[in-house]
Amino acid sequence: MELTRLKGFQDLLGTQAQTLAYVEARARLLMERYGVSEIKIPMLERIELYQRSTGETSEIVSKQMYTFSDRDEAGTTLALRPEGTPGVVRAYIEAGMDRSDPEQRFFYAGPMFRRERPQKGRYRQFNQFGVEVFGRADPACDAELLVMIDDLRRDLGLEFQFELNSLGHAGCRPAFRAAVLEYGRRHWDELCRDCHERLERNPLRLLDCKIDVRLAEQAPRSLDYLCAECRAHFDTVLDLIGAAGVRFVVNPRIVRGLDYYMRTTFEITSTNLGAQNAVVAGGRYDGLVEVLGGAPVPGIGFAIGMERMALALEAARTPRAALPRIALIALGEAAVRKATQIARELRAMPLQVEMLSSERSLKAQLKRADRIGANYAVIVGPDELARSAAQLRDLGASSQREVSLDRLAAELSAARAQ
Ligand code: ATP
Ligand code: MG
Repeated sequence: MELTRLKGFQDLLGTQAQTLAYVEARARLLMERYGVSEIKIPMLERIELYQRSTGETSEIVSKQMYTFSDRDEAGTTLALRPEGTPGVVRAYIEAGMDRSDPEQRFFYAGPMFRRERPQKGRYRQFNQFGVEVFGRADPACDAELLVMIDDLRRDLGLEFQFELNSLGHAGCRPAFRAAVLEYGRRHWDELCRDCHERLERNPLRLLDCKIDVRLAEQAPRSLDYLCAECRAHFDTVLDLIGAAGVRFVVNPRIVRGLDYYMRTTFEITSTNLGAQNAVVAGGRYDGLVEVLGGAPVPGIGFAIGMERMALALEAARTPRAALPRIALIALGEAAVRKATQIARELRAMPLQVEMLSSERSLKAQLKRADRIGANYAVIVGPDELARSAAQLRDLGASSQREVSLDRLAAELSAARAQ
């Protein structure tokens, strides 16, 4: 086959698509309980949005973006969104909310694009489910988001490791930045090429480096440079989530290299996964709204990697109550008419019902019922129709009996409960 899918892009079929949809559905239910409303933003934006927010020295902007110039508008370079936060912040400012009604909570769900090396759990198109809260600087808000993630974890029956750090605010930053810069210069010969390039411009990137892991581990720690207020903010977050029953560890390695990321920063990994085990990342970004041209409104958010969450769910094999599957077999035109009504009633139970093609023989339809893994076949032919009944066939036990149509839904529900 010549026209295959692109490297790093996926087709999700059957259960894979289903698991992803399931995680999203559970996350959406949670949003309702937390009073977070949906925001839908474009997948294409001007490249400058990401250059200014995600940052030119970030891996995402320097290496991973899909960009192209627009044919009609000369000089406009567009980028497929590599993450959700910049677009959400732009939309928030563009709607004037930063000035008129700054306290807002949004969630988004959809595909992101990053041109990175594909492997299990790392794709070039992947889905994120993210939450952004604007207008709240208090630690209770940070805690609420972390508890929210733990609620999702619990709902899905997964095991997560919460790793938290505090980067301090703009006031704590200069001393910390200087210490990292000094450390980087001292270890110049051991640094990777990327770190050489970005050390002077953005030394904190060193802490994030995927290559110089050992050096990063021994680098200065932001926690040692926190002012009293930042220390208190962090301690309160830890106290609140601890009291709410979230289990966590403090990990000084959790950083984001940009100036407006501040205070609480976190990464959450799943113990149900292998190498690519980070399932959620987030943190406070009080300077970002202003950087993108808005009012100085604080913000905090996180993004869930949905494919990794789905992989974790599959690995944990959390039993999910699957709906019993019914193959509905109608023989003859009048039976098809009745079966169309029956199918609707059964689905409302709820049961999973697939009406098979009445153009095939009974034998062929029973074969098909086996093939789709149906638990029961409900067979309606002219004789059954005349008696207002159906044959109920237990495909596992290979037993069959006649049931009157007004008893059918109840019988199937009872069978399901067994
Ligand atoms: P990583 O260190 O794994 O590259 P990241 O720091 O680039 O992650 P974020 O930009 O913070 O990740 O995105 C949040 C989450 O989105 C990650 O924790 C991960 O679950 C998911 N994610 C990021 N990149 C990919 C990808 N290429 N494919 C699948 N999921 C991804
Ligand atoms: Mg990455």
